Amino acid sequence: MSTPEPLTGRCLCGAIELQMQPPTDFLGLCHCRSCRVSHGAPFVAWTSVPLERFAFLRGEERVRWYRSSPCIRWGFCDQCGSRLLYRADEAGHPESPQVDRMYVAAACLEGTLDRTVEAHVSYEERVAWYTCGDALPKYRGKGPDRLA
Ligand SMILES: [Zn+2]
Ligand SMILES: [Zn+2]
Repeated sequence: MSTPEPLTGRCLCGAIELQMQPPTDFLGLCHCRSCRVSHGAPFVAWTSVPLERFAFLRGEERVRWYRSSPCIRWGFCDQCGSRLLYRADEAGHPESPQVDRMYVAAACLEGTLDRTVEAHVSYEERVAWYTCGDALPKYRGKGPDRLA
């Protein structure tokens, strides 16, 4: 079995470049308020890989981390502000992100991912001014309570 090509991504200014080795764990659209406000977007597409399959190609020292709670931090470029990363440093967050994963904002990745979007999560926190008309499952929080 051949190893799939790595996925690469970068911030707007290019100071930070990153790489993920597929297979990714998932690809979901998060509608939670934290994602919306942090990214200035109605929802954010997230994917992840185990930490050992994530690497910075350049600019790791340019990543600034905002800690939103004792166990959660958000990584962004110190020059252009692009929001790229999400990490859980310890278990205990109610949405239970995995501590052994690097979560990456999928829209920063170039080329074709190894999957397409599978679900909407935290759909109960969605904005009122946009309706997702697709047939993908829509979950309360990170599941398994399906809303639509
Ligand atoms: Zn940048
Ligand atoms: Zn979210």
